[in-house]
Amino acid sequence: PGSTDHPQLPIIPQGISRSHFHSAISELSTQLGQDNVSVIDKPPKDDGWYMEHATTHDMMSVVPKHEFMASAIVYPASTAEVQTIVVWANNHSIPIFPISMGRNLGYGGAAPRVRGSVVIDLGRRMNKILDIDSEDYTCLLEPGVSFYALYEEVQRRGYKHMWIDTPDLGGGSVVGNTLDRGVGYTPYGDHWAAHSGLEVVLPTGEVIRTGMGALPGSNTWQTFPYGFGPYSDGLFSQSNFGIVTKMGMTLMPAPPDHESFMYTFEREDDLAQIIEIIRPLRIGNILENVAQLRSAVQTLAVSGRPKSDFYKGSGRIPKAVVEAECANLPIGKCEWIYYGMSYGPKHIRQYKLDIIDAEFKKVSGARRIDPATIPKDNYFWSRDKIAAGEPDLEELLWCNWVPNGSHIAFSPVSPIRGKDATALLDITNKHQDCQGVEIFPAFVVGLREMHLIVECVFDKHSPSACEAALASMRGMVDDAAKLGYGEYRTHLALMDQVAGTYNWNDNALIKFHERLKDALDPKGILAPGKSGVWPSRYRGRGWEM
Ligand code: FAD
Repeated sequence: PGSTDHPQLPIIPQGISRSHFHSAISELSTQLGQDNVSVIDKPPKDDGWYMEHATTHDMMSVVPKHEFMASAIVYPASTAEVQTIVVWANNHSIPIFPISMGRNLGYGGAAPRVRGSVVIDLGRRMNKILDIDSEDYTCLLEPGVSFYALYEEVQRRGYKHMWIDTPDLGGGSVVGNTLDRGVGYTPYGDHWAAHSGLEVVLPTGEVIRTGMGALPGSNTWQTFPYGFGPYSDGLFSQSNFGIVTKMGMTLMPAPPDHESFMYTFEREDDLAQIIEIIRPLRIGNILENVAQLRSAVQTLAVSGRPKSDFYKGSGRIPKAVVEAECANLPIGKCEWIYYGMSYGPKHIRQYKLDIIDAEFKKVSGARRIDPATIPKDNYFWSRDKIAAGEPDLEELLWCNWVPNGSHIAFSPVSPIRGKDATALLDITNKHQDCQGVEIFPAFVVGLREMHLIVECVFDKHSPSACEAALASMRGMVDDAAKLGYGEYRTHLALMDQVAGTYNWNDNALIKFHERLKDALDPKGILAPGKSGVWPSRYRGRGWEM
């Protein structure tokens, strides 16, 4: 490893000679067709934007772009072609890195962990919706199916009785997001929990189907996720043990009706009380969806206006400024905003909404904002769409907070407890002040745990801003681990550090992953280093960061 400021392109994977690489690439081009193999021999023109993003590197790079730059991108059209690529990679000891669509922004985008890897862009040509079963409420997808595409197909078929679940941005891949254990905001928001059945190309080229898919002729691949024997699906999420070429997902029955609601809370210190109120309501399913408790400053930012519109000074935007600005918005003067949705017919919703109202109003100064008073262009209505499974892009707007806005996320998991929320917020505040970075904390509440998603927004063209963003993330990861909190997902640059915090019993879990990696991928070609799992060929040779 190691890098220079201006590496010669293409970046050749370490241990391979330039001539060997080029002859291997021409062999692959013969097998897949010239148009389906693209060597990165010129500096990428630009990063593109979310819907037309660069797949040569991370478009929101927090480290110099070439640190995580691919040597080439290949576009398979079928599972058989993925097998061809994997066998080729083994023959030439060339690292490969699969993406579904590569919109993993905040976590590394389309970039590979090992520079010079050949990125397999599955999404460009493997983008079919193979099945939507309108009676079982399931679907079977290829990696290139985005949340938008699935939503539009459900609408096109007139399946009004069915909802999909979408993350905040709808342009990502259902398969890619689910494999990274991403989150959406209907009751089906835990995407991994909602999947059923995988088809996987193993690092040595064999294909398996998991769960009921292993039984020829089975008609329950998408309805019963477990099959028989050891449940192997988990091995293929956030992992480098296989390339997923098909995935089954369950879909939500559309409720007869639904209604968004929003509460605001006045003081930062209200956090612990709010979280204590949320826990029993969420576990008891009175709060039904994966809801969000957001900071007021993020609501200012999602207007799309830069910080400089509100405050010209350096450092954190003063509370008084945030309060004064919020006072002009439908949310009014507040520190926290809870966005939720209630599902079902009016009388069922009312029963739940009354309980929620009584509980939230125990917090002094809590207010329910009447949706009828909220203008149609307000962000509230974007949350309303998403909690009803309709993809959107409005969330991107908070990236405009700083020039050339990019972001990286610190995403620890904790119980739904006030003291945990406060401890994690203290950590993020400490590193925000210490590094002078811009952060937006949001508590995303699952059934029995919550993810604190701390988005750190930085100017990607400013080396010092990138360094500060990364340093703040590293500080947060370490401090959180000292208190027993770990991340649910992380950026390529932090994978070794985060994996290192899951070190109980003399790193027993990491050693287990390494044994699996060596057994399944003896040549160590598939996404080396992903999630901190290095094959033996790379271990102990300074690749960790
Ligand atoms: P990809 O980038 O294709 O893949 C994600 C990861 O899975 C990669 O590491 C890749 O190596 C691996 N992978 C992909 N496909 C395969 C495969 N077939 N086989 C093996 N491994 C594979 N995320 C959320 O979850 N929820 C949110 O609400 C959310 N909000 C966001 C808001 C903003 C403003 C931004 C910028 C990002 C947000 N994200 C969110 C993060 C990200 O945009 C999404 O998670 C996105 O869906 C991930 O990109 P993708 O679907 O294209 O997956």
